[in-house]
Amino acid sequence: MKAKLEASRSLLYETSRYVDIYKSLDAIAKTRTLTPEERAESKRYSRLADALTPIAKGMTSEFANQNTYDSIQVHGGSGFMRDYACERLYRDARITSIYEGTTQLQVVAALRYVTAGSYLQYVREMLSGLPESKEKEAIMAMVDKLDAMTAYVTEFKSQEFNDFCGRRLMESAAYCVMSTLLLRDSTEIAEIFDKPLKVFIDYSLSQLDGHYSVIMSRTPESMDYYR
Ligand SMILES: Cc1cc2nc3c(=O)[nH]c(=O)nc-3n(C[C@H](O)[C@H](O)[C@H](O)COP(=O)(O)OP(=O)(O)OC[C@H]3O[C@@H](n4cnc5c(N)ncnc54)[C@H](O)[C@@H]3O)c2cc1C
Repeated sequence: MKAKLEASRSLLYETSRYVDIYKSLDAIAKTRTLTPEERAESKRYSRLADALTPIAKGMTSEFANQNTYDSIQVHGGSGFMRDYACERLYRDARITSIYEGTTQLQVVAALRYVTAGSYLQYVREMLSGLPESKEKEAIMAMVDKLDAMTAYVTEFKSQEFNDFCGRRLMESAAYCVMSTLLLRDSTEIAEIFDKPLKVFIDYSLSQLDGHYSVIMSRTPESMDYYR
């Protein structure tokens, strides 16, 4: 639960930072002409904000649902009663994956960045600036799997198959991004991220393996069973 919380925070804060930067530059542009460097910076951060927003909204709201569900379970019967905050948090969390765009619509928004390779490039760039470690190696292996899954799905040029694999592709991309941000936080910011990083990578590896095995064993023909 803590690992999901820290990974969610890291992605949320990073996305918010990109939004702050390009909106600040937008505000400055109303008072004077931006320099070519500032214009390039504004474009870069606006693009990053667009790409990270759907995975931030999609993943953090799903993790909020999972964590509040688990927190009731941890408290047993008491957790279900109104005496404790977790039953309220559980009810409050449920709407977050519905309003302001359901998770399924975040998947639709994120997919174009998955297929364009934007998350792969973002993660690879960030990893290249971080020192070698077991965690970095694990993330690079996840990135290669995401790359292979994306190439496999797009090769069929089937919208239906794309839609079928969309959620798994979006989540896989998000696990790569969130793990990389946590690695950056534990390397450059504070030790308190070390354990959440290790746990989150273990979790992401298992999730990504599951998504990989489902996607790579399906074809557009297997869609017959799901219609
Ligand atoms: C408490 C609350 C407060 C709200 N506040 C506001 C507000 O302040 N302003 C405002 O404008 N709205 C508000 N809403 C509305 C909210 O934004 C919508 O409920 C939400 O966007 C989902 O739309 P919908 O209810 O029409 O569901 P639908 O769009 O009918 O979706 C039903 C299901 O179909 C899925 N689905 C739909 N399209 C696709 C697709 N293309 N691919 C895959 N799956 C799909 C959805 O994910 C969902 O699971 C609020 C809703 C609630 C409950």
